[in-house]
Amino acid sequence: MKKRQKWGQNFLIDESLSAEIVDSAEIEEDDLVLEIGPGAGVLTQLLLERAGKVVALEIDPDLCRPLEKKFGEFSNFQLIQGDALKFDFGQIGSRFKTVSNLPYYAATHILKRLIRYGSRIESMTVMLQKEVVDRLVAEPGKKEYSSLSVFIQYHCDVERILEVPKTSFSPVPKIDSSVICLKPLEAPKVQVSDEKTFFKIVHAAFLHKRKMLKNNLKEWEHFFKNEKEVIHVEGIDLNRRGETLSLSDFALISNYIHKAEETQ
Ligand code: SAM
Repeated sequence: MKKRQKWGQNFLIDESLSAEIVDSAEIEEDDLVLEIGPGAGVLTQLLLERAGKVVALEIDPDLCRPLEKKFGEFSNFQLIQGDALKFDFGQIGSRFKTVSNLPYYAATHILKRLIRYGSRIESMTVMLQKEVVDRLVAEPGKKEYSSLSVFIQYHCDVERILEVPKTSFSPVPKIDSSVICLKPLEAPKVQVSDEKTFFKIVHAAFLHKRKMLKNNLKEWEHFFKNEKEVIHVEGIDLNRRGETLSLSDFALISNYIHKAEETQ
C-alpha cells in the first residue's frame, strides 16, 4: 500500500475552512497545543500564529523535513517524529489543547488513547470521518448510537462543530468529514462503581444490535429478576435493545451487577 493511503494523507486545501477549524478551538496566546499529523502544515501555520507553543507529532519522516524547514524559525514550534498510536502524551505538558485533522485509519484509536490523558487535556478539536462523528454525538434511540458513543460521552462533553466536504482535501477522499470538539470531564457524567464492569456490559449490550438485552447480557442472567413476566434489572426491562439505554441506565445495571458479583 502506498504511504499516502497507509497514513491517511489527505491534506486540507481549503484555507478558509482551516481558519474556521482553528477559530473554533479558541486558542489563546498562552496555550500549549498538540497537533497530531501536521502533514503539510496548513493548520500548524495558523496555530503557531495564535498559541504559546505548538507541539506537532508527525509519523512520516518525509513530511518532517519540510515542516522543520518551514517552521523551524518559529520559537514556539516543536516537531516530534513519532507515532500517535504509541506516543506518551504525558510528555506534552500538564495542560494542553489538541487540534488535529486525524488520519482516518487510526482516528478512534488515537482518540481513545488521548482520553487516557484526559485530566491534562482542556479540549480536543478534531476532524474525523463524518460517520464516526455521527456515532460520537449519537443519543439513545438513534441508529448511530453504539458502545463508542457511550464511551466518549461518559468521558467527555461533545459538540459537533463543522461539516467538511471531501472536496476540501487533496487527494479527494471517498468520504466526507466533520469537526467535533471534545472536552474531557473532571468526573464522568454518571456514577459508576466499577468502570470495568460498566464497559463490559456496554460492550456486550451492543454486540448484536438487533438482539434484546436479555440475550446480549446472558453472561449475567443469574442476576436478572423476573417479576410479573417482565425480565429486568433495577426496573430496566431487558426486552429492550441496548441502543435504547441512556448512560444512567447502563450505570444502574452495571452498579447492580457489580454489587451482586461482589456479594455472591
Ligand atoms: N494536518 C494536515 C492537514 O490538515 O492537511 C494533514 C492531515 S492528514 C489527514 C493526517 C496526517 O497524520 C498525515 O500528515 C499523516 O502522515 C499523519 N499520521 C498518520 N498516522 C499517524 C500516526 N500514527 N501518528 C502521527 N501522525 C500520523
